[in-house]
Amino acid sequence: MSDLHQKIVAMDLWPLALPVVARRDHGIGSVEGTCEVIVLRLRAEGGQEGFGEASPWSVFTGSPEASHAALDRYLRPLVVGRRLSDRAAIMADAGRAVAHCTEAKAALDTALLDLAGRVCNAPVWALLGGKCRDTIPLSCSIANPEFEQDIALMHRLRADGVGLIKLKTGFRDHAFDVMRLERIAAEFPEFRVRVDYNQGLSIEEAPARVRDVAAFGPDFIEQPVAAHHFDMMARLRDETTVPLLADESVFGPEDMTRAARDGICDGVSVKIMKAGGLTRAQSVARIAAANGLSAYGGDMFEAGLAHLAGAHMIAATPEITLGCEFYQATYFLKEDILETPFPVRDGQVIVPDGPGLGLRPDIARLNHFSQSDPVAA
Ligand code: MG
Repeated sequence: MSDLHQKIVAMDLWPLALPVVARRDHGIGSVEGTCEVIVLRLRAEGGQEGFGEASPWSVFTGSPEASHAALDRYLRPLVVGRRLSDRAAIMADAGRAVAHCTEAKAALDTALLDLAGRVCNAPVWALLGGKCRDTIPLSCSIANPEFEQDIALMHRLRADGVGLIKLKTGFRDHAFDVMRLERIAAEFPEFRVRVDYNQGLSIEEAPARVRDVAAFGPDFIEQPVAAHHFDMMARLRDETTVPLLADESVFGPEDMTRAARDGICDGVSVKIMKAGGLTRAQSVARIAAANGLSAYGGDMFEAGLAHLAGAHMIAATPEITLGCEFYQATYFLKEDILETPFPVRDGQVIVPDGPGLGLRPDIARLNHFSQSDPVAA
């Protein structure tokens, strides 16, 4: 019997509230105090363990309560007792068992891959088709309503060798956005700048404001208007000289197909938390590329465990060419959950080569930040 024929015998969950260093404002809402994620652990008959993380945001993908319930009540019966070799079947069943809850499905897919990789002594990127890159350029988001605190962050990013920043816009007035773009251009000319509205503009104000921001020449402008405004996204794409990225408009491969057909974007932010898994995220990027569109490695308010899953996915997906934004473990959380720091060096995420995800969460820290009873190590 091959090792992958082992059965999965246990699933544990930690609903975490992780303290953050500063407030962050996006076009659709704010995060302050803590961000909430769910960590999942699967155990195989032989004692090996695999971990995954669901990183929801109530105003974007869904609530932590829904992620927890999806895993605990609806997905648990599909997983415990199944064989490790059945990942594709388990994920297909998960897609039918509970609607939406894409973050919970991403956590499950991650844990199945981490566990299979540890059992086979292979990194997750190998299970996803092999590696096309060893490092991924890191972008950090600039989203603090107190811009002077972001100025201090940008000095730190520059010293750390980070070359990409994403300015979060549309949460206050247009003058605030223009002022910040002017100061960044004057004081930090070495940064390549991206702009993300997170749906923050109305259809009335979007054309003129996007035109103003495009004059600064950012690499791209992301999701200026509400997710469902496909017609306005298509109009902005036609009118704007800078590439337009879709984020909230595109969750999974089904949305990507429609977005490409309707011509709403030049590229897409690919996230495992939106797609509902690593393989489905790869599909989003491949549909984009097949339609001549670019792809970016986006994320949610995540801890290092979800960053690892995204890094392995991007390492195995040559179509994602615009870097990643896995900055939260390093620059946003007061303390991450991994045993050893999420690997970032000289502004690049280093893709791990060890078995599974390559790094593990610290169980004592999971119990410390858990909002429910401790779980045995
Ligand atoms: Mg975005």
